[in-house]
Amino acid sequence: MALQVGPIVQDVFTVKEKLRITPHLIRVILKGNVEIFKDSSLGANNKIFIPQPGQSKVEMRDYNFETKEWIIPAPEIRPFMRTYTHRAVDFEKQELTLDFADHGTGGPASAWANRAQVGDELGIAMKTHSKELFPPVDWYLLAGDMTAIPVLSVILESLPATAKGTCIIEVHGPEDEQQIQTKAEIDFIWLHNAHPENGSDLVTEVKRVDLPSSSKFAYVACEYSSVKDIRTYLRKEQGWEAREMYAFSYWKSGASEDESGTVRREEKESV
Ligand SMILES: Cc1cc2nc3c(=O)[nH]c(=O)nc-3n(C[C@H](O)[C@H](O)[C@H](O)COP(=O)(O)OP(=O)(O)OC[C@H]3O[C@@H](n4cnc5c(N)ncnc54)[C@H](O)[C@@H]3O)c2cc1C
Repeated sequence: MALQVGPIVQDVFTVKEKLRITPHLIRVILKGNVEIFKDSSLGANNKIFIPQPGQSKVEMRDYNFETKEWIIPAPEIRPFMRTYTHRAVDFEKQELTLDFADHGTGGPASAWANRAQVGDELGIAMKTHSKELFPPVDWYLLAGDMTAIPVLSVILESLPATAKGTCIIEVHGPEDEQQIQTKAEIDFIWLHNAHPENGSDLVTEVKRVDLPSSSKFAYVACEYSSVKDIRTYLRKEQGWEAREMYAFSYWKSGASEDESGTVRREEKESV
């Protein structure tokens, strides 16, 4: 049942369809009460609640409006919580689309996307405000790995025809490259890396880009070390202002999302 607590909405959705867009990107189309997301924007992040293996239902947290406290399910039935991106919402069909980078079955979210079948449940919560993903500037640097494809796709699809820029995306291999729609004049650079947990060439490639001196914005989303290095390069070596970029690590090699949240948020505030 849908629940709203202040700006946070949550509900349980069911898998309507699952397809592989490319060998390492799993698209899951969920059916349910997407009306709760009417004030949220595409590209915004949500929280998904993943049932434990063997559970057919997802046990969502409840809220006590008198004590103003969340009621969390017992550990043995408590779902895993992970952060994903609102890739697309179809209000007519009542569908929500999420794209999962397939990094195997070592993490609950990737494992769930691999085993998900039509009718399976997934809980979703998010804040209901809409947020500007990028400011209007002349030139954009978009850099990310497979986890950033959803948000970078939303950005590219909404850039105006007058925008220019470079988009560098690191994927598993050539078969994971895809056509992303945009009206803007964008140079696409695809990098291949079958083991992003062991390091990435994103920083090296960003350093090769001829950056403009004004009216620019960077959106960077990938593994912790790459985000940190790209942020340091743009801020310290290129003198970019903090407001000229959004850079946030979407995951940290060797650590689950629960384990890396604090250090990833601290890095975002670092320079
Ligand atoms: C704002 C935001 C939006 C995001 N949107 C998306 C999205 O739309 N699609 C998407 O796929 N991801 C997205 N992510 C990244 C996703 O939340 C993480 O990859 C998350 O760790 C996956 O959870 P898990 O349960 O599969 O693995 P976890 O349990 O968190 O981690 C288990 C192990 O897997 C490793 N790992 C995690 N992710 C990867 C990866 N991509 N490649 C290789 N190893 C990995 C970890 O380092 C750890 O060792 C987003 C993250 C943020 C912060």
